[in-house]
Amino acid sequence: MSSIEREYAIDHLEVILKVAERCNINCDYCYVFNRGNENWKIEPPIIRLDTVQVLADFLRRGALEHGVRRIQVDFHGGEPLLLKRPFFEEICTLLRRTIEDVAEIRFALQTNAILVNQEWIEIFQRQGVHVSVSLDGPRDLNDMHRIDHKGRGTYGATVKGLKLLQRAYERGLLPMSPGVLCVVNPEFNGADVYRHFVDDLGIKGMDFLLPDNNFDECTPKNVLGVTRYLIDAFKQWSSDDNPEIDVRIFSTQLKTLLGSDAVFIGFSAQVRRAVAFTVESSGNIFVDDTLRSINDPVFNKIGNIVDTSLVEVLSSAPFMMLQSVSNTLPNVCEECVWRTVCSGGRPTNRFSAQNKFDNPSGYCSSLRALYSECVGYLARSGVELSKIEAVLNSN
Ligand code: SF4
Repeated sequence: MSSIEREYAIDHLEVILKVAERCNINCDYCYVFNRGNENWKIEPPIIRLDTVQVLADFLRRGALEHGVRRIQVDFHGGEPLLLKRPFFEEICTLLRRTIEDVAEIRFALQTNAILVNQEWIEIFQRQGVHVSVSLDGPRDLNDMHRIDHKGRGTYGATVKGLKLLQRAYERGLLPMSPGVLCVVNPEFNGADVYRHFVDDLGIKGMDFLLPDNNFDECTPKNVLGVTRYLIDAFKQWSSDDNPEIDVRIFSTQLKTLLGSDAVFIGFSAQVRRAVAFTVESSGNIFVDDTLRSINDPVFNKIGNIVDTSLVEVLSSAPFMMLQSVSNTLPNVCEECVWRTVCSGGRPTNRFSAQNKFDNPSGYCSSLRALYSECVGYLARSGVELSKIEAVLNSN
């Protein structure tokens, strides 16, 4: 192992793999199709098997060179279930066959669940695919933005697929109960969304994602709505106090306030020494997919898996830039009491045309409110405040 390879020793490598660059629905906030980046138009609509073979070889070489213990492939789109089922299974088999003798291989998949049927479930079972469903709340809320290409709501079709997945899990066919990814909408009530997920749909694992707005787009009204949403949802979750229900954004913040230095990336639980990047259907490599909507060199193409090694990805300008952004506190955050647990928030929410990433999160006040709420909850649960203070005062 060379010194640069040692420098980039990795436990967990995660690839967000764009197997389909089209979608069967058309959510108006989608960062892939509806926020200005038109890369998808020049990408093959569906990945080819020879591209997957090149990726598998790329990952195998990378695992050997960097001592990677676990590789996670997140099947993403567009909508990954637009692939023909036998072809999808061929992709899983090929990746597993090429990689599994050098690293543990895991599969995850993000879907709107509309195309889920029994045949898909059998594939998820055979291939051990962890499925997460995109849904934003009860029908009237979800269907304000998660619409099909004719403007019709998608709630009914998504929930039908979700229920098939849940039943399959209950029958022991799937490795995990399907989780839900939900984009926070400042016009919605977070308590209603949480209660609907838990009480009406029986969802056990969920995450609330901050909107992909950059700093300039975070208006005071928008931020206030996000704050209310998060706090209302947190209050519901914490008063349920049900260990079987995980809300990733909340449990992660609590763990961070208690001193965990693990991070979560992509679709993984908390992991250490982890890297993630995006591979499009052509094999082109980019950093974090959610940054595609900001017009900045950080989302320039890194290369293609055909002629780029993992070490070249990790030492590329966009990758280093993103690492530097993530490791550098915005100036204005230097004096913030939450700086050690927040680090300025998500890069997308920090970005502005004028200062680039040298802004606090556009959702700074939402995050502050959430941290305060979390500290209150920990204190009520008997955690000594000195323990949290030590975390907040650490470097
Ligand atoms: S809470 Fe706000 S000021 Fe504090 S570190 Fe986070 S973004 Fe910066």
